[in-house]
Amino acid sequence: MTKVAHCETTRSYLADKVVLIVDDEASIRKTLGGILSDEGISVVTAPDGETALLKVKEIQPHLVLLDIWMPGMDGLETLAKIKDLSPNTPVVMISGHANISTALAATKRGALDFLEKPLDLTSTIKLVHSILQQDSHDKLSSTPQWEALTENSTTGRKASEINPLVFRQQHLKGRALKQKTIAHPAILYGQGLHSGRKSGLILEPLPANSGIHFAGVSESTIVPAHVDFVESTGFATTVRLGRTQAGTIEHLMSALCAYGISNLLIKCNGEVPVMDGSALEFCRLFDDVGVVEQEGEWYEIAVPETIQIGDGKEWIRIEPADELTIDYTLRYPEPVGEQHFTFSLSDPESYRREIAPSRTFSFVKDVGQLQKAGLALGGRFDNFLLIGSEGAINDSWRFSNEPVRHKILDAIGDLYLLGRPLRGRITACMTGHSDNIQLLSKVGELLKALA
Ligand SMILES: [Zn+2]
Repeated sequence: MTKVAHCETTRSYLADKVVLIVDDEASIRKTLGGILSDEGISVVTAPDGETALLKVKEIQPHLVLLDIWMPGMDGLETLAKIKDLSPNTPVVMISGHANISTALAATKRGALDFLEKPLDLTSTIKLVHSILQQDSHDKLSSTPQWEALTENSTTGRKASEINPLVFRQQHLKGRALKQKTIAHPAILYGQGLHSGRKSGLILEPLPANSGIHFAGVSESTIVPAHVDFVESTGFATTVRLGRTQAGTIEHLMSALCAYGISNLLIKCNGEVPVMDGSALEFCRLFDDVGVVEQEGEWYEIAVPETIQIGDGKEWIRIEPADELTIDYTLRYPEPVGEQHFTFSLSDPESYRREIAPSRTFSFVKDVGQLQKAGLALGGRFDNFLLIGSEGAINDSWRFSNEPVRHKILDAIGDLYLLGRPLRGRITACMTGHSDNIQLLSKVGELLKALA
């Protein structure tokens, strides 16, 4: 067993701490157990849910690491029973492959966090330490773990790290809107499109006047979902602050804009999972979890003048208007050809129906090139639409003009990176993330000039 080096050799909060590992795979129990023992933590293991419940009763562990997929009593059932027995015992789910419904169920039943197989040594240890450390502070607390986490990680411990820049000064006021967040924390699993790494999302509600922010699963730096923090816009939009980066954020941002969510903490592993290449899973998640209104002023950004980026074949323009409308034109060789679509963002339902299902697309001739550049490694054949000379290769079109609808989906996401919905008519032709971000930066400059 490799010993993990630490600058600190003793940690007082580890004294007498017991972690229960529940997994039907003996190799996981052995490896994970060894790693935690090396850290000075007492480890107890259980090969199934029944044994786990007995051990919880018997030894009252300070943390349970629980596999989701086990024969017999599965992880979710075991989680529910552990919560009945001992509501304050933190439980972290472990899974190699979970889908949205199991992840959500785990969230609703009180799981504190999740780890993905294959387990990453450093982040596993970090997470275990942070939970055990927190446990020593909150020993007498009777708050359910999810609430305790949300409170400590958002309004409490991390409050100082959240930069509520969107809410400091709101110039160019359009209509007043209700601030919104999600009703409960939620987890979503998936794979990164560009890195191909397994990735997950933990969404946590934030109080009014916070804004939307990204964080690493165990990193403490929080990066605002704001144009000032956009680092790259090559094939997807990435925000970064210090070591915390969140890539491919545009589809999630698009759904957040459509659902009017203004305050949220999104934890991910460097990249938002691509899901099926559309925004549909994010909409489903918000529908399942529920969105709640919050008190506090929040206004659309009413664009006061026409702004245009580019000209000729590739350009995007925004003009003052009463609502956000995007009119997009796309020209590619057949079978895509020329496509034109106009969409006004007025409610989540029409977005979910008309825009959210449209998927990221790639042309067969470009895939090799993207992969050479280290991109699209997650491009299995179920998370984007692959277009050959005859049409869609890997699946049928969801709309006859799916590509142009996806361009609108991307634009809505990118243009939400001032943290307030834009109010204006956008006309675009053959533009991508870089143009969207340039346009938004111009609007951002107008705001700054008024500040
Ligand atoms: Zn996209």
